[in-house]
Amino acid sequence: NRVVTFARRPEGLPDATCFALESRPLPALAEGQVLVENHYLSLDPYIRMRMEAKDSYAPVMALGETMVGRTVGQVIESRDAAIPEGSWVVGRLGWQDYSVGTKADVQFIHPDRAPLSAYLGSLGSTGITAWIGLVHIAGVKEGESVLVSAASGAVGSVVGQLARARGCRVVGIAGGARKCGVVRERFGFDDCVDYKAPDFTERLAQAAGPGFDIYFDNVGGPIFDATLPLMRLFGRIPLCGLVSQYNAAEPYGVRNLREVFNKRLTIRGFVISDHRDVWDMATQELERAYAEGRLVYEETVIDGLENAPDAFIGMLQGGNIGKQLVRIKTA
Ligand code: NDP
Repeated sequence: NRVVTFARRPEGLPDATCFALESRPLPALAEGQVLVENHYLSLDPYIRMRMEAKDSYAPVMALGETMVGRTVGQVIESRDAAIPEGSWVVGRLGWQDYSVGTKADVQFIHPDRAPLSAYLGSLGSTGITAWIGLVHIAGVKEGESVLVSAASGAVGSVVGQLARARGCRVVGIAGGARKCGVVRERFGFDDCVDYKAPDFTERLAQAAGPGFDIYFDNVGGPIFDATLPLMRLFGRIPLCGLVSQYNAAEPYGVRNLREVFNKRLTIRGFVISDHRDVWDMATQELERAYAEGRLVYEETVIDGLENAPDAFIGMLQGGNIGKQLVRIKTA
């Protein structure tokens, strides 16, 4: 079994020496365990946080441990009667060809309804993240004005579509003209502003019109700061992630905090595992939208488990459009 393990704690952006590709024998299954052949691996920004020496909202990874990550795969051996061989599952099964788990580690998926990989993206925890932040945390209302950062990414692209479905005007922020084009044309946002362009602040102010009711923040840092003056009175900011800060040596100091006070803004961090009570509601809306062709998604897929470290490092720098995945089972 090929396994990617955690070899070195990064300072700043991880590099190849932070990972090791090992070959390990597969253990015999104990009662209640299943063996899953992994087909796709999801590469997510939170994994970078788990490489830190200090706890974030998730516990730290120990050196030598299998890299954490969600996969979809097929059960090829089972010692749990409730999970028959041949079942398709998703779970946090790690960067490896085969994983051993129990029913606590996996959920069933439906490959007859959507491609396998969608269960790591829009129809999985990515879509649920978008729904929880926008609907449950920010309480989006019909016709509001919504701003989303990392708009061409996995979570951001779903946020925009859920908001548009509620009659909202949606503006995205993304890195580069090409990504902004995808955000507008493929994901149907009303506008998208390139944060790498020299006139970013002016363009964002133009796109804001009378201001934003909601800013769905995926990135933190200077972009978060730039949005505060553009929020409307009593605006809400669901803080989903801070991807611009995960590799930063020094935390960014926010300058426009006064705007939070002036505008009586609500900023609320959230982590989806605290909101399991609404997962079914989120999944129902996402599955319905997908089945009706109203939820489009993009994937950036690279082949081969051995290429997972490069793809992960690339994703942290914006190499992806939509969900970053690794196809583990290539033949
Ligand atoms: P994405 O698919 O959005 O990929 C990350 C993107 O971040 C890149 O494509 C890049 O896009 C952008 N980015 C990287 N560096 C910067 C920077 N310095 N400034 C601005 N943008 C940057 O990842 P996900 O959709 O998986 O995750 C999005 C966010 O959601 C992350 O912050 C993640 O931690 C968070 N998250 C939170 C969860 C929760 O429970 N709260 C659950 C899941 C995810 P670009 O080219 O535009 O820069």
